[in-house]
Amino acid sequence: MDDLPRVDPSRGLIGLNIIQPSSDNTFMTFKVKRLLALKRSRYQEIVVADIEDFGRSLILDNYIQSSEVDEYIYHESLVHPAMVAHPNPRKVLIIGGGEGATLREVLKHECVEKAVMVDIDREVVEMARKYLEKWHQGAFDDPRAEVVIADGLKYVREVKEKFDVIVLDLTDPYGIEISKKLYSEEFYRAIYNILTDEGLMVTQAGSSFFFEKVYDYVLRSVKSVFPIVVEYNVWVPVFGYANNFIVGSKKYDPLKLGVEEVDNILAKRGVKTRFYNGKTHVALMYTPIYRASGAIKR
Ligand code: SAM
Repeated sequence: MDDLPRVDPSRGLIGLNIIQPSSDNTFMTFKVKRLLALKRSRYQEIVVADIEDFGRSLILDNYIQSSEVDEYIYHESLVHPAMVAHPNPRKVLIIGGGEGATLREVLKHECVEKAVMVDIDREVVEMARKYLEKWHQGAFDDPRAEVVIADGLKYVREVKEKFDVIVLDLTDPYGIEISKKLYSEEFYRAIYNILTDEGLMVTQAGSSFFFEKVYDYVLRSVKSVFPIVVEYNVWVPVFGYANNFIVGSKKYDPLKLGVEEVDNILAKRGVKTRFYNGKTHVALMYTPIYRASGAIKR
């Protein structure tokens, strides 16, 4: 036992630390090993830093968006349940996802012919290109990819195309102002209108545990628009909570997919993953939804 690592409480908060609010009263602190970039864009404060335990990380307005050590858990869980639920997703729209990892995961599906990624902040995408190669892995320059710098709300109101799957990888619904409008019933109606007749969307929805009321607002908004709604969540170590996701679908239900079916679809499409597979899919779909008022059994 003596040779196992132990926490050394005496180390305290010496040096540079990032303090991330989990709620108004709970915070996580991260020791910064190396600060690579700190810049205020027109929309948010952008930090790229190497932090202890989690490696390189993107931080926007004090919220860690993703970290090198565990980003794949979040991005695979966000993208693949909706993508495998659709029998042949050829055109995919991503809103947000500035690091390029959501785009990376979507492009793993060989059936995808076009993936449009719309992020409001050019500076985030440029920082990702420069510092977050492990996230995008060249996805920005894939011939099937189109990167658009625009407000997602404006884009969905004006785009003439229809999409098979839409992935909403935005800053949290209780975070910065610019993404709040993209968690509303009005926005999901606009999303519904640019989905094909068999289309489906998935949105990241922050933490139902720390922000239960906000989560319920987002859930109600999706339920008011889509006939099929599926909630799921996955523990993301660097967030310090289970990140929620909500699927809104016109026809296909990810809950209906079994272990073998998911594995066969991934194999057929040539999708290689580190975390997500058939068993993970079923586990995600049946994990209780964590709420401060009491977890909901599945
Ligand atoms: N994985 C993160 C999470 O779990 O919170 C989200 C990833 S990504 C960094 C969030 C992106 O949403 C940012 O790049 C931000 O610029 C973008 N964003 C915020 N509001 C937006 C809007 N109205 N339209 C388009 N992109 C937006």
